[in-house]
Formats: sequence, C-alpha cells, structure tokens
Amino acid sequence: MRAQGDAPGGLERAAPGLASGSRGFPQPLIVGCRRPESPSDLPGCTTPPKHAPEPPMSEIEIFKEFRIEAAHRLPNVPPGHKCSRLHGHSFRVVVHVAGPIDSITGWVCDFAQISRAFAPVIDQLDHHYLNEVAGLENPTSEVLAQWIWARLRPALPGMTRITVHETCTSGCEFRGPRTDGGS
Ligand SMILES: [Zn+2]
Repeated sequence: MRAQGDAPGGLERAAPGLASGSRGFPQPLIVGCRRPESPSDLPGCTTPPKHAPEPPMSEIEIFKEFRIEAAHRLPNVPPGHKCSRLHGHSFRVVVHVAGPIDSITGWVCDFAQISRAFAPVIDQLDHHYLNEVAGLENPTSEVLAQWIWARLRPALPGMTRITVHETCTSGCEFRGPRTDGGS
C-alpha cells in the first residue's frame, strides 16, 4: 500500500516493503531478503535489481513447546545420588522445524501439524513413570530427547532439534539428521 502523501520521485518516502521498481525508481540492494519474488510477504524486503543474481533460498526455523508431567528415577547414577530416588519433573519439550516459507500460507508449516505429531508422545509419557516406558529404562533428559526425536521424525522431516528442559535451569538439546534434504 502506498503511504499517504507519498510523492513521486521521493524514494525515501516510499512505504517500507514497497517494491520501488514498479514505479520506475532506482532500486536498492537487498539485505537479508529471503523471498525476492514476493517482496510484499516480508516487511522490509524490496525487489532486487534485475542485474543482481538471485539470492539463495533461505530457511526459517519455527518451534512448538509442549509440557509433560512425569515421574522418573535414574538407575545408573552413583550410590546416594538424589536422582536415584523417585521424583517428578514438569518437562518442557521444544520441537524445532525448519524449512522455506510457503509463498501462499506464509509459514513453514502449521503449528497444528507439530501438535498432531506430538500427541502420541504426550499419550505415552504424560503422567507416566518414565522408567516403565520401553526405551526409557534410564530416562535422563538426554535419552528422552532422542526417544522423542525418533518418534517425531517420520511425521516431521524438517525437524532440526529437540530441546528438553528438565528444570528451569537444566536441560539438553538433541540435533539429529534431517530427512527432508535440508542441512
Ligand atoms: Zn529427575
């Protein structure tokens, strides 16, 4: 949308995000624009000069956070360690997914898609004793992050990492291989 009172010839008065080239004015270089073919999709992006090479397609990473209340004990810690005793955590699990921004929807993927993928994980873990879950006999946050990754991977090929917050100040982050061709 053109700014009110925008006078022809005044590039500095063009509204942010407008493609100045459509009005025949000099076009500034692009800094950090991911979608030059649809400049109006992103604030601050303008049409690149025609002689400039196409910038490489970039990705953006989104995340969705979930909470799991669960009990556990760690069987392999040194004798007397407090974590050997039965206790519980309010785990916060953050799922990260990367990909290009869809030119129509303007998003990487629907957050609801991540929630749907995560629903079976909640069913298996929330308000459960983790040590009794297959694969979580030694349920450290590190093991838990990899366990969750393995179960989400088929539904979320763009997944880049799983973060598990065991407490407000402690947690871990697991980065596994992507299956969507991204790096
Ligand atoms: Zn614990």
